[in-house]
Amino acid sequence: MKGFDTIVMVDWSSGNDTGPTPRKDAIWAGINRGGTAEDPVYLRNRQEAERWLPDLFEAEHSAGRRVLAGFDFPFGYPKGFAKALTGSADPLGLWDWFEKFVEDTPRQNNRFDLAGQINLDIGDGKGPFWFNGLQRDINGLSRTKDSYANPFPEKRQSEAQAKGAFTCWQMGGAGAVGGQVFTGLPVLARLRKRFEATVWPFEPLDGDLCFVEIWPSLTVGPNPEEVIKDAWQVSEVARQIAALKVEELAEILAVDAAEEGWIFGLGHEARIKGVPPLRNDCFALPPGVHWTPVDEALGMLQERLSPVTTTCRAALKDALGRVAAEDVAARRSNPPLPNTAVDGYGFAGGRPAGQHTLPLAQGRAAAGDAPAVLPEGQAIRVLTGAALPAGVDTVILQEDVIVEAGTVRFSGPVKAGANTRKAGEDITEGEVIVSQGRIIRAADLALMAATGVSEVTVRAPLRVGILSTGDELVEAGEVAADGQIFDANRPMLLGLMEQLGHEAVDLGRAPDNRDALRGILNKASARVDVILTSGGASAGDEDHVSALLSEAGAMDLWRIAVKPGRPLALGMWAGTPVFGLPGNPVAAMVCTLIFARPALAVLAGAPWQKPQGFDVPAAFSKSKKAGRREYLRARIRDGRAEVFASEGSGRISGLSWAEGLVELPEPAMQITDGDRVRFIPYGSFGIKA
Ligand code: AMP
Ligand code: MG
Repeated sequence: MKGFDTIVMVDWSSGNDTGPTPRKDAIWAGINRGGTAEDPVYLRNRQEAERWLPDLFEAEHSAGRRVLAGFDFPFGYPKGFAKALTGSADPLGLWDWFEKFVEDTPRQNNRFDLAGQINLDIGDGKGPFWFNGLQRDINGLSRTKDSYANPFPEKRQSEAQAKGAFTCWQMGGAGAVGGQVFTGLPVLARLRKRFEATVWPFEPLDGDLCFVEIWPSLTVGPNPEEVIKDAWQVSEVARQIAALKVEELAEILAVDAAEEGWIFGLGHEARIKGVPPLRNDCFALPPGVHWTPVDEALGMLQERLSPVTTTCRAALKDALGRVAAEDVAARRSNPPLPNTAVDGYGFAGGRPAGQHTLPLAQGRAAAGDAPAVLPEGQAIRVLTGAALPAGVDTVILQEDVIVEAGTVRFSGPVKAGANTRKAGEDITEGEVIVSQGRIIRAADLALMAATGVSEVTVRAPLRVGILSTGDELVEAGEVAADGQIFDANRPMLLGLMEQLGHEAVDLGRAPDNRDALRGILNKASARVDVILTSGGASAGDEDHVSALLSEAGAMDLWRIAVKPGRPLALGMWAGTPVFGLPGNPVAAMVCTLIFARPALAVLAGAPWQKPQGFDVPAAFSKSKKAGRREYLRARIRDGRAEVFASEGSGRISGLSWAEGLVELPEPAMQITDGDRVRFIPYGSFGIKA
C-alpha cells in the first residue's frame, strides 16, 4: 500500500449555521501534511465545508499529494437496512439514495421528515429511526423510544465493539450521530463522484483520495481547557494517523465489513495512540535534592525523555537536516561493479619486474559502458569509473605505458588488482548506511543516492514554541517607557531553534499575569511539541511560569549547580513539556545550549548529544570557587582561549562577542595564563559561531 501525504480529519455537524466565530457544534477540520500539523480549520456550516473540501482536494491533487480524509459519522447502517431501503445491500448505493432525497441549507434541512418517511415505508412507522428535534410532530418519527420497534439490528458490529458509540438510528440529542449521517453522506456522495475518491472499507484504497470513517473518542484524550474539543480531536486524530508507519496503516485498514462499514482504528487503539506521551512526572527530581550537579541533571533528562514527533516519508531533496526515523539500508552496493580508479590500460593479473608488452585490444571501456570481454593476454584502454571488462583485474596508469604499433609496453612490477576498485568495497547492498536518529547531512544524501535510496522515513521537525514573559518587556522597534526593556530572548531563542533544525514557533510575549499566561500555555500546548519560556522561572512573586507549572502538579524547580543560570522550571503543561529558562539572556542562552539542546534533540528523535570540547591554553587567569560548574563566554585567538572581559550575566554583548564557551569543572580552580581549559565552540552545539 502507498502511504498518504496529507491527512485531513473532519468533525461533522448536523446543526444549523453557528456563525463566523469559531465555536463548538460547527464543523472542524484537522490537517497534517507531510507529518506537520496545521491549525484546525473552522467551517461554520456544511455548505462551507462542501466548498472548502474540494478546494483542498484539488490543491493536494495538483501538488501530487495523496490524501486520506476522515469523517466522524458512520459510512453504513446495520445489516439489512440498505437492501430494505434501496433494494441493494451496496452501501454506496445508500449514499446516492441520501444524496437524492436529503435537502439541506444552512438554516434548515429535511432530515427528521425523511427519517419519518423511511420509518413509514419500511418500519411500520415505529422505527428504525427515532428522536424528533422539531417543534412540530412528524408522522412516523417518535420523540422518545416508547413505542419504538426496529426491524434492523440496533448497532453495527463496529459499534457493538466500540464502547460508548451511539447508534445511527437516533436522529438527535446529545452525542447522537443519526443527523450527521443524513447530512454527511450526501456531501461525501458528491465528493466521491467528483474526485473519484475510494471509500473504506467498501473499496480498495488505491486512488489519490480516500475516505475513512473515524470516531475521535476512540483514541483521543481530553482536550486542554480553552481548546475547543472538536478542533482538538480532529487535530489529534490527524496527528496520530500521520504518525503511523505505512505498514501499520495497511494493517489497520485490513478490515472486512462490506455492508456496515467500520470505525478506523477500532481494535488498534493502542497503536494509534502511538507515540507514547511523556509522563507527567518526567521532570520530577528525587526528594531532598538541593543543588543538582550538571551531569546529574543531564543524566536525568537523557533518561526520561523520548521522541514526540511523528514520522513521514521524504524524498532525498527534502530530507536534509531531518532526523532519520528508521535505519536506512543500501539498495545496491557501491561501487556496484569492480571498476577502474584511473585512466589507463587494463589486463589480467600482476606483472613482475622487467619489461612487458601486451597486444592492445580494439575499443575501450569508459564510465557508463556495459562491461565488455577482453581476450586473454591482451590489454584494453580503460577510463576512470568504467566497469572492468571481464578478463581485467589490474590497471596500469596511462602515464606509465608506451602505446605503439597496436601494443602497450610498460615496466613491472605491477601488483595484481592495482588501480581498481572492488565491487562493494565502500558499501555492500543491505548494509545500514544511515542509522535511526541521525540528523541527515549533505554527505548522507550522497551516500543514499549512490546506493539507490531515493526516499527515507524521517521525523517531522520538532515544533518548539518560544515565549517571553515579563511585564517589563516590549518589542524592539516599539516605544519603551522608563523601566521597560526590549525583548532580547525571543529573537535569540527563535534563532537558536532554527539553527538546531527545529521548527521555531513564535508564541509572543506574556505579561506577569497568571490567567493570561495560562491561556497562552493552553493554546500553545495544542500547537507545539515543546515550549521554551524565558523569565518568571524562579520562585519569586512574579515568577508565574513556575507557579503555574507547580499548580498543574507537574513541575520541579531544577536548582542546578551551574553559572550562569538560576533555577530551570521544568514541567508538563497539558502533555507538553515546558522548559522554563531564566530571564537573563546570558543564562537563557547558556541553559539552552547546555540543557535544552540535548533534551530537544531527544524529543525530536535524535540521540542524546554531547558537545565536543577541546583542551586549549587559556589566555586569561581566574580563580574559581568549588561547588558549581561555570561556563564563560569565550573565543579562540592564536590557539588560545580568550574570555569576555566581564562575567556579568546581563552582558548580552559578551554572547555576541563569543564564539563558544569555556567549561570549568566543579572543583575549585586557580587558572593562570597558559593552563589548559576546555573550549566548546558554538559549532559543537550545532549553532553557528
Ligand atoms: P526573571 O527570570 O523573569 O526574573 O528575569 C531575570 C532578568 O532577565 C530580569 O532582569 C528581566 O528583566 C530579564 N529578562 C527577562 N526576560 C527577558 C527578555 N525576554 N529579554 C531581555 N531580558 C529579559
Ligand atoms: Mg520576570
